[in-house]
Amino acid sequence: METPTLGGGDARSTSGPLVGAALRAPLVDRRGRVARKVRISLTDRCNFACLFCMPSKGKVHWLPRQELLSFDEVERLTRVLVSMGVRKVRLTGGEPLLRPKVEELVGRLTRIPGLEEVDMTTNAWFLAEKASALRAAGLHGVTVSLHSLRRDRFHQIAGMDALPRVLEGIEAARREGLTPLKVNSVAIRGYNEDEVLDLVEFARERDIALRFIEFMPLDGRGTWDPEKVVSGHDLRARIGSRYELLPRGRGDGETAQRWGFEDGKGEVGLITPITEPFCDDCDRIRLTADGQFLTCLFDRALHDLRAPLRAGATDEELAETVRACYDRKPPGVQYLGDLRKTWVKPRAMHAIGG
Ligand code: SAM
Ligand code: SF4
Repeated sequence: METPTLGGGDARSTSGPLVGAALRAPLVDRRGRVARKVRISLTDRCNFACLFCMPSKGKVHWLPRQELLSFDEVERLTRVLVSMGVRKVRLTGGEPLLRPKVEELVGRLTRIPGLEEVDMTTNAWFLAEKASALRAAGLHGVTVSLHSLRRDRFHQIAGMDALPRVLEGIEAARREGLTPLKVNSVAIRGYNEDEVLDLVEFARERDIALRFIEFMPLDGRGTWDPEKVVSGHDLRARIGSRYELLPRGRGDGETAQRWGFEDGKGEVGLITPITEPFCDDCDRIRLTADGQFLTCLFDRALHDLRAPLRAGATDEELAETVRACYDRKPPGVQYLGDLRKTWVKPRAMHAIGG
């Protein structure tokens, strides 16, 4: 019998339902962690320059455009990953809305049989103008990064005087019904930790889920310092000083410990990779904009999928490469040991895809 394969319009692959041999064994690493979600970076470029992400001005080297995966290539690799049990895609970057006609890719991905959800993380600069097309293409949720509600401070943190436009983007996403709608905030000591309660209030007024993320040593400027990390414990104390927090727990494979409020309005999630890592049931993998497979944010190794893809590898061969790399997924943050001394990050956050 002929072996069904996967992919869009390519002789080596099919775009049909995932049946027979096309449904491969799940992607499981040697610690028993099963991959269910992939974060796909669409570009390393960004129109912002957040100080916890991007190298300083003049020190950024963007990938040449021909090195980025085409939409055909992103779709093909996604189909292979879905055949191995991946169920959710999050499009990220750099800034994913910088990719022209990104809604076309969203439409193609949402039509992949077996894929349950396509979401996006964005800085929202282009969200107001894109929200309707993204919704029409089938995008589920949007997570918008918002690190300050003060215009001058937002400018200082993001390197762009963008707060009004970001707020418009959030409203547009709400109007269009992009769900779940979340706001991400990286809390950094000395920059914005005094705004924790303001951000909580902002999210509660709009019934939006807010996520605080601990600052990770993935910044392009090498300024990360444990002293700058506002811990989940600290965040809980700050929020708890005004509200009674009701624990909602952390779902399997989820990054955020979630907390509700007595009046049921809004939700806050604390993502604590540094002080309370959640690597034991991690179900995420990553694909960079130039087709490098990353098993963990804190993996030292990037595994090239673009070269075999462009050299004509079959879906089966790509799947086997992914499986072999995934098996060696490192245990997680704890593997870094002394973060400051021993770890050499492969790339900064904008080039990995957060
Ligand atoms: N440009 C989009 C945005 O800002 O939402 C998507 C890419 S960005 C790299 C994805 C997420 O990573 C954002 O929420 C951002 O705040 C977060 N991030 C970037 N650098 C980080 C760091 N060093 N530590 C923790 N989170 C970081
Ligand atoms: Fe750009 Fe997002 Fe990085 Fe900020 S966090 S510089 S918006 S990629």
